[in-house]
Amino acid sequence: MAIKIFDSLSGKKKILSIPKNGPLKLFVCGPTVYDNVHLGHARAYLPFDIIVRYLRSLNIKVFYLQNITDVDDKIIERAKEKKTTAAKISAEFSDVYLKTCKKLNISSVDKYVKASASIKEIKNQIYRLIEKGYAYETGSGVYFSVKKFKDYGKLSRQNLEELRSGYRVESDPEKHDVFDFALWKKKKFSYEPSWPSPWGAGRPGWHIEDTAISEKYFGLNYSLHGGGMDLKFPHHEAEIAQAESLSGKKPFVDFWIHIGFLLVNGEKMSKSLHNFITVPDFLKRWHPDVLRWLVFSRHYGSPFDYKEEMISQAVNAMLSLKLLFSSLKTKSGSGEISSKVKKAVSAFDKKVKAAMENDFNTPEVVSEIFQFANFLKSLDNLNKKEALFAHSFISNLLSVFGFSFFLEKSLPKKIKEMAEEREVFRTIRNFSEADALRDKLEKMGYKIDDTASGSVIVFNNLEIHG
Ligand SMILES: [Zn+2]
Repeated sequence: MAIKIFDSLSGKKKILSIPKNGPLKLFVCGPTVYDNVHLGHARAYLPFDIIVRYLRSLNIKVFYLQNITDVDDKIIERAKEKKTTAAKISAEFSDVYLKTCKKLNISSVDKYVKASASIKEIKNQIYRLIEKGYAYETGSGVYFSVKKFKDYGKLSRQNLEELRSGYRVESDPEKHDVFDFALWKKKKFSYEPSWPSPWGAGRPGWHIEDTAISEKYFGLNYSLHGGGMDLKFPHHEAEIAQAESLSGKKPFVDFWIHIGFLLVNGEKMSKSLHNFITVPDFLKRWHPDVLRWLVFSRHYGSPFDYKEEMISQAVNAMLSLKLLFSSLKTKSGSGEISSKVKKAVSAFDKKVKAAMENDFNTPEVVSEIFQFANFLKSLDNLNKKEALFAHSFISNLLSVFGFSFFLEKSLPKKIKEMAEEREVFRTIRNFSEADALRDKLEKMGYKIDDTASGSVIVFNNLEIHG
C-alpha cells in the first residue's frame, strides 16, 4: 500500500509514510466561531472526515486534532454589533459548530481544542520567539518579524515585494514591516477579552493559536496539516514561520493539504450577494448524506461550484443505489458464489483502493461504484449468496466513507402490505389501481422501482418534508 497525497508546499504528490510507533498526526484549522456554519465549512471539513475514516479502515491509527478559534477580532466585532460579550458569541457558535458536525456525521476528530483553553501554551511560544530574536514588542502588541524568516511566502509562492507595494498604511508605525503579524494584541478597550501576560493584558493573534495547540499535542514537526485553500496566505505561511523558527527544523509538516474553494453559482458565497447557505438550513430540507455525497463526488482539492440542481442529481444517484441494494436483498436463487462474481468484486475493490491511494480520488470511487452497480444489474440470474456478497461489499464501503442513508431499515408493515397489494394489481394488469397506490406510497416518502423480477421499494428520506 502506498498512499500518495498532493502536498501544496512542494507542489507534488508524495508517498505518505505511516509512522510505525504512534499515530499518524493530522491537524486541521478549525472555524472562527462568530456566525452560523455554512456550506464553506462543510466543504472544508467533510473531506477530512472521509479521508480519516478511510485511513482508519486500513487499520492506520490517526490522531485528528482540530482547533476552534474562539478568540478573534471577528468575534469581538460581532459581540459589539449584537451588544453582547465576545465570550457569549463564541460559546454560542462553537456549540452550533459542534452540533452541526455531529448532524453531518463528522465524528472522526479526536480532539477539539479552543484557543481560550490554550493561553498558557500560546504565551510560552511567544516568549520563546522573542528570546530567539524572531519577535518584538511594540506599544500595540508583540509581532513576528517576517524579515527574520527568509522562507516567508514559500507555501503560497507569493512575491512579497510586489504585494508590499499594494499594502495600505500600517496602523502601528512601530511595526518593522507591513507583513509582520501580531502574536499578542494588547488590550485597548474594556470590552475586549484579555489575559495577563509579560507584555500586558491582551489576547493572542490568530496564527499563534494553531501552532501552540499543535505543539502541545504533536510537537513542532508532524505529518499532515489541512485547511481551506484561502488559509494558505497569510495564515499557513505564518504557522510555518512560527513553527520553523521555534524548532530550527524544516519542514514543519510533511504534507500541506488544501481544500478547494467553494463557489455558489460561480460566485464567492457571501451575505451581500444573497447566496449565503447555512448548513442548518440545508439540513432542514435534505438528509445530511446529500451534502456528504456532493462533497464525495468531487475531488477535495478542486474548486467546488455549488448549484441547486446538483442536489437532485445526488438524490437520484443515491436512490438508485439504495434501490439496487434492496433488489439484491430479494434474490432467492440457490447456488454458490460464481468465480465471475468473485472476480468482479475483487476487481472493484482494487480499483477503489487505487483511486483512494491516488490522492483520495473520491470522484473516481463514485464512478467505480456505478460501474459495479451496472454490472450487478446486468446479471439477471444472481443467486442469493452472490447478491448478498455483492451487497455487503458495496454497502460496507459506503459506510466506511461515513454514509448512513444506505443502511438497511425494514419497512413498516403497512407499507409492505400496500406494496404487496400493488404487486397484485400489476399481475392482473390493473395499472390504474397500481399507479394510484404508487402515487400514495411516493407521497409517503417511498421510492419504487419496477424491475423484470418484481418491484423494489425503499424509504426515501433524502428530502425532508414538513
Ligand atoms: Zn490554522
